[in-house]
Amino acid sequence: MRMRYKPWAEDYLKKEPNIVDIDGSHAGRISEWFDNDQPIYIEVGSGMGQFITTLAAKHPEINFISMEREKSVMIKVLDKVIEQGLTNIKLICNDAIELNDYFKDGEVSRLYLNFSDPWPKKRHTKRRLTYQTYLALYKQVLKDDGEIHFKTDNRGLFAYSLESMSQFGMYYTKINLNLHEEDDEENIETEYERKFSDKGSRIYRMEAKFH
Ligand code: SAM
Repeated sequence: MRMRYKPWAEDYLKKEPNIVDIDGSHAGRISEWFDNDQPIYIEVGSGMGQFITTLAAKHPEINFISMEREKSVMIKVLDKVIEQGLTNIKLICNDAIELNDYFKDGEVSRLYLNFSDPWPKKRHTKRRLTYQTYLALYKQVLKDDGEIHFKTDNRGLFAYSLESMSQFGMYYTKINLNLHEEDDEENIETEYERKFSDKGSRIYRMEAKFH
């Protein structure tokens, strides 16, 4: 997400150490940080956090993690968490490539990828969040029956991800080629989803599991 660089963002995030981990201080101790044993759902690349904070407000029985590498973007998630007084969500400001430093094997029940950067050039394939390197990390931290929920407006990324995940030994429990065609009351829009659907873009969605 392109957002103006805010040099004060790091200090702003550091003021809330019970909500934000900016230096890996909770790595390997995420359930202890929540101080309960509720299931953990993560969103990787949360952007400004509309999706994950709305979900957290609806589901106090679940612990949520927003993982976003841009500090200047993460401050928007933090503002939402504080404004709404949410206690079942923590923020990790780091790159998803570090995922298995934070979570124990099999600790996570669900992982959301929403409108991930498409990286359309072939030479950037390895940066896509559904490239095999990332899938291996997701497999490690997810429970055996854990799920990945994926949404995008980008047909190329969707097609790539279906193939990449299938080659990695995953299977699909749901595929929707036009999410907004049906009135899905359960769907929680992200900031990007609203922007793209307002422009008339089709939204693709899938749910997948590892064999
Ligand atoms: N999910 C949000 C939405 O749908 O509105 C934001 C989508 S935006 C296109 C992608 C976000 O993912 C950006 O904020 C970017 O900083 C973050 N991101 C991309 N690669 C990442 C990575 N490897 N680790 C953590 N965050 C990442």
